Amino acid sequence: KQTQRLDKILAHMGLGTRSELKRLTKAGAIVVNGVKVKDSGMQVNPEKDQISVNGEPVIYREFVYLMLNKPQGVVSATEDHRDRTVVDLLDAMYAPFEVFPVGRLDKDTEGLLLLTNDGKLAHNLLSPRKHVPKTYFAKVEWEVTDTDREAFAQGVTLDDGYQTLPAVLNILSVGSKSEGRPSEIELTIMEGKFHQVKRMFQAVGKMVVYLQRISMGPLELDRSLRLGQSRELSEEELLALR
Ligand code: URA
Repeated sequence: KQTQRLDKILAHMGLGTRSELKRLTKAGAIVVNGVKVKDSGMQVNPEKDQISVNGEPVIYREFVYLMLNKPQGVVSATEDHRDRTVVDLLDAMYAPFEVFPVGRLDKDTEGLLLLTNDGKLAHNLLSPRKHVPKTYFAKVEWEVTDTDREAFAQGVTLDDGYQTLPAVLNILSVGSKSEGRPSEIELTIMEGKFHQVKRMFQAVGKMVVYLQRISMGPLELDRSLRLGQSRELSEEELLALR
């Protein structure tokens, strides 16, 4: 569709409710192509018409792409009757865009989560046939060994009988049970079964005690984001994802 109602576009961009926009229109604060708007329901082409509100140009966009450093204790959903969701952590200006998380992290998992309202991009990233690699940092009780690395490289059998695809295990430091110190590892998987990382370690008799996603395809967690903080993707990040 080429043209849409002006108030719908502006509301979608978080610039006010329809009634607020009506008030702004009455006050002469909304201008389209240099002319003060009389009817906030007028049809405009958001790609071509020049719209401004209170003298500020409105840069139209349909999609938003956000990177969140997910903290523990929030669920990867848009609504939940009990828990806070990842969407609750976003700035209120994103509410009209109706973003959703691309895939899920467990409630107790931290790190990189992409949120968008671009269903096509989300679908591509989540398609099992695309094998988008996801890398996790984990602390595991207790000793993680080369035998585990070889097992993961072959694929392990999960509790439900599923055979995992080859995965790359990088052992950063070997833990010690007697010293109460977990191993630190990075694991890259090409699929995303339910609780996959935890269940892969379970399959070799070990327990994940901390889990953080650090990358998804070409997208890497921005370490300057504190837990619970988010930012929009850069041009470069978005291009790399497409
Ligand atoms: N694997 C898990 O076990 N949990 C996550 O949150 C992500 C991958």
